[in-house]
Amino acid sequence: MPVFRVALDLPLHRLFDYLAPETASRDDAGLRVRVPFGRGERVGVIVDVVAGSDWPPEQLKPAGEVLRDLPPLPPDFFALCEFASAYYQAPLGEVILQALPAGLKRRDSPKRRAARPPPPGEPPRLPELTAEQAAAVAAIDVPGAFAASLLHGVTGSGKTEVYLRLIERGLATGRQTLLLTPEINLTPQLEARVRARFPQCTVAALHSELAEAARERNWRAAFTGEADIVLGTRLAIFTPLPRLGLIVVDEEHDPSFKQQDGIRYSARDLAIVRAHQAGVPVILGSATPALESWANAASGRYRLLQLTERANRQAALPAIRILDTRRLPLREGIAAPLLAAISERLARREQSLVFLNRRGYAPVLACPACGWVSHCRRCAANLVLHLADQRLRCHHCGFEQRVAKTCPTCGNQDIHAYGRGTQRVEEWLQDEFPAARILRVDRDAVKSRKQWETMLDRIHGGEAEILVGTQMLAKGHDFPLLTLVGVLGADAALHAADWRAPERLFAQLMQVAGRAGRAELKGEVIIQTQFPDHPLFAALAAHDYAAFADSQLRERQQAGFPPYAFQAILRAEAPQMTDAITFLQAAAALPEVARHGAVQLYDPVPMRLARLANLERGQLLAESASRPALQTFLPAWRAAIESIKTPAKLRWHLEVDPLEF
Ligand SMILES: [Zn+2]
Ligand SMILES: [Zn+2]
Repeated sequence: MPVFRVALDLPLHRLFDYLAPETASRDDAGLRVRVPFGRGERVGVIVDVVAGSDWPPEQLKPAGEVLRDLPPLPPDFFALCEFASAYYQAPLGEVILQALPAGLKRRDSPKRRAARPPPPGEPPRLPELTAEQAAAVAAIDVPGAFAASLLHGVTGSGKTEVYLRLIERGLATGRQTLLLTPEINLTPQLEARVRARFPQCTVAALHSELAEAARERNWRAAFTGEADIVLGTRLAIFTPLPRLGLIVVDEEHDPSFKQQDGIRYSARDLAIVRAHQAGVPVILGSATPALESWANAASGRYRLLQLTERANRQAALPAIRILDTRRLPLREGIAAPLLAAISERLARREQSLVFLNRRGYAPVLACPACGWVSHCRRCAANLVLHLADQRLRCHHCGFEQRVAKTCPTCGNQDIHAYGRGTQRVEEWLQDEFPAARILRVDRDAVKSRKQWETMLDRIHGGEAEILVGTQMLAKGHDFPLLTLVGVLGADAALHAADWRAPERLFAQLMQVAGRAGRAELKGEVIIQTQFPDHPLFAALAAHDYAAFADSQLRERQQAGFPPYAFQAILRAEAPQMTDAITFLQAAAALPEVARHGAVQLYDPVPMRLARLANLERGQLLAESASRPALQTFLPAWRAAIESIKTPAKLRWHLEVDPLEF
């Protein structure tokens, strides 16, 4: 009797056997199937068709209908899912099912529309390549065998044009391109540019803000080979592509390529694996590559391609000025030279951007009389004051309440907002420059793609003379009139406990600095700091990513941090911290730990945000100088951890290559 080995979306590290019809064959592998499960029915994916089961036949239930509306998922899809499952210690069924659009996992057959055919259009005139762009395009073989390239290009150097030329070569030979981008919603112009360049092609977008039906339609177009270019966020890495010829990961350093819940995979790292499995070239592009990628280029694992000049030669890189705020009086956190620079821009009808990566009015409200502080009652964090709508809001769990007029503890009417966020800076700048049109751009002002597009139109339409914004504004936008960027509040990240903080800060400042002076107007960046001699600022002022990256990598090598060590983290959350820590201690004491001497375990500790949404959180770091040693240890350890008896409300997960602690 043939048996279907079925992947189901369950947190279990096993597949499920069902009796298959007599007519079943190996050709059914990769199809979806309805199966009884518990009292209901589920849709799973047939991973294999085998002659018999390890289970006694009377315990096997017959499978339901095999769904044949789609061709079977191909072997390379399973190969990638199996790699991700093994590497990230995630159940194979969950990996496979999360890769499919929701409509394909439902029991009712979805209604379908065909993918939209591309509108007719004129192929655009191509810009002339710089010598560096031409060299990068020439260095990559499309179509070609597996090769990983790191395209390091300063902001405005035209990395996208390099991608487009390579995509064009792929198209000419009938190959599909998978183009991954961190957040499509923040970069609608990338999608627009790809569509405009290839009007004769089908471009399928895949991201979470698409309506379910559109996402399924686009996924089908990719899977059937109808789409020539698939432009997507991290989840798109799993999309089956029968004619795949090239993978591009734009802004490869961006942390959003790492999934932070569920299956905690890195789409950038999986892009390398997928390209290797498929035997196609892969390009990672960034102005500030992740240090892991930079180290891979230095060791020769990736080929390094550099764009050191801006594509528009008149657009010189902005001058970067460091303001020593220890020596300057500040008004509402802003030094006089920055205010003067904003005034000059107003007089010249140019735009300024004040960058502060903290939204809200002030990070905390407190009572100086009794010491009351606006804590979140569910988290180890403060409630942020949002004066715009009179709310106190937790940026971690979403809890919110009305702003009290008096201290809830002592009744004092004189409670204070401490520190400043974008709303406060906006308000104060408006007082200072009453005639100026100021736009605040952060996640409170812009919640959807539509709002974001409207906001971009307003900025481009010259409706704003001063922008006050968070990192939303830092990503790849061209504002031709923007000639000044002022950076506030950068120091917090300089001395953060998180050793990745300087890397992120440098990337962010480089990105935001890249907004200044992209057209014919020269740009200026003014950074306020109390640590003007910090080497990060020296490297930034010299636009010298390599110097910064090399010094950071030396420090990491000395400290034994990634990429010179490999890590996994076991996290536990429970209503009581003692339960979480006791569980982690039990995990550390398992005999599997002693058996893998090349892996070191640290002591269980509370997480930095120790309480989130009423749960106490602890973590245990496992580390090894050898990736294979860690990878051998993890499945044995995970299986042993699963046998630890835990309190009912305790939840745990393993994360491999964690970015946050
Ligand atoms: Zn009080
Ligand atoms: Zn909270």
